[in-house]
Amino acid sequence: MYDVAVIGGGIAGCMAALAAARCGADVILIERYGFLGGTLTACGTGPMMTFHAGDIQAVQGISGELIERLKRKGLSPGHIFDTTGYTYSVTPFSAEGMKLELEAMMAEAGVTLLYHSIVCDAEFDAGRLRAVEIYSKNGKRRIGAKMFVDASGDCDLSVLAGLPFTKGRETDGKCQPLTMNFKLTKVDTERVREYIMSNNDEFPRLKGDLKKVTRACRLSIGGYVKTLQNAQRDGRITFDREDILFFETNIPGEFIVNTTRVINADPTLPEDLTRAEIEGRKQAWEVYDLLKDSAPGFERAELEFTGPFIGIRSSRQIKGSYTLTAEDIVGCREFDDTIARGGYPIDIHAPEGKDNAMYEKTKLSLEYGDMYSIPYRALITDGADNIITAGRSISATFEAQAAIRVSPIAGATGHAAGAAAGLCALTGVSVHELDTVQLQETLKAQGAFLG
Ligand SMILES: Cc1cc2nc3c(=O)[nH]c(=O)nc-3n(C[C@H](O)[C@H](O)[C@H](O)COP(=O)(O)OP(=O)(O)OC[C@H]3O[C@@H](n4cnc5c(N)ncnc54)[C@H](O)[C@@H]3O)c2cc1C
Repeated sequence: MYDVAVIGGGIAGCMAALAAARCGADVILIERYGFLGGTLTACGTGPMMTFHAGDIQAVQGISGELIERLKRKGLSPGHIFDTTGYTYSVTPFSAEGMKLELEAMMAEAGVTLLYHSIVCDAEFDAGRLRAVEIYSKNGKRRIGAKMFVDASGDCDLSVLAGLPFTKGRETDGKCQPLTMNFKLTKVDTERVREYIMSNNDEFPRLKGDLKKVTRACRLSIGGYVKTLQNAQRDGRITFDREDILFFETNIPGEFIVNTTRVINADPTLPEDLTRAEIEGRKQAWEVYDLLKDSAPGFERAELEFTGPFIGIRSSRQIKGSYTLTAEDIVGCREFDDTIARGGYPIDIHAPEGKDNAMYEKTKLSLEYGDMYSIPYRALITDGADNIITAGRSISATFEAQAAIRVSPIAGATGHAAGAAAGLCALTGVSVHELDTVQLQETLKAQGAFLG
């Protein structure tokens, strides 16, 4: 029996566990794999983008602290200029370093970690979750808690408890495509920069401002559009994508390639996920072979890594007491119960797999420096007194989720969910009775930026 049980050790779950423990709660974090960081450390996803809204650091708090700790150890260069033109800043990091640092932070805060345990059932009765059932190699076990944070990414707890949820796009239930990120080592970054500087037409995202690629100590770039089109025409690349997108990690010459695209897969069905893993890996090798043969600087590159699971951008969302909308995001709507802020734009990878809707749909775009708010009510549901959801599966429309899904903001909602769970557990109130001013004060005391 714990004060707070956090389900899922992704960035949201980690921030939640730390925040709850720092409130004084006795916390357990249950994770199906054997490490922390979730999508960030498992799927070769990164850099974290973005902590900023214009010149203001919109996400601070425990996620910001994590980056400072990584920086001090040489495991992240910190927040640097985004040379892709997607957003303001990107934050590269060492995935292995992040796993280690998160575990150190858990130990310091006194969080109990339980790896290799998948939550497979929920004892939910009269609006309260009494316990979760976990499955591990030695069978099933029950873990009770006063409060639960669902940071599973797919809102597994709400589903197991029989609470309402949505999945994918409102019109047809389709989710954003899945992507098998992979890591390349031994890339000659300077030769890649030189190629970009002399091949403007291959990199339309730069809009002619080629000097951008020299403005950061790590290179992030989307391009090679002609190379990719030719390869698609020749059948070397068998999937639709407009450009090749890659990001240098904390280690110079090591790149995350975020380019594969698997469509028509439901990320909550094992059959679809199996097909997606196989198709994604095949696509990853197609891109690797293409870069090695055709892109100066990649001649000696090695495909080092694909993760233990394919990247899922969106799946299920809780039906919260409030549902965040695209209008709230682009209108920068203020809420009395704001618990996190963000500046990352609505970035939809279309379920059909054609173009990425982020740039062209002006009705959904943010102005420079726009900073939106996320209300506490998007983390809770009317039907449950002691469940708080965090990360990419909070209550949001398909469009709004495409903004708040990125890791700094998932970390910020995790921080808020954990602080709320800690306060509820220690004062004995339900998620609906929690004083949101007290929550905001607690978050500020823990370093969060609420504007
Ligand atoms: C291809 C791709 C590229 C991306 N690129 C970027 C990027 O460049 N920058 C950026 O900031 N963001 C990016 N994102 C988004 C971002 O990485 C994720 O949305 C974010 O990290 C989600 O964090 P989370 O903690 O909410 O969920 P997750 O990271 O999904 O964590 C959920 C955790 O819960 C565990 N879990 C799930 N179910 C159970 C269960 N039943 N029992 C026990 N444990 C369970 C999982 O193992 C996992 O560790 C990308 C995402 C994808 C898919």
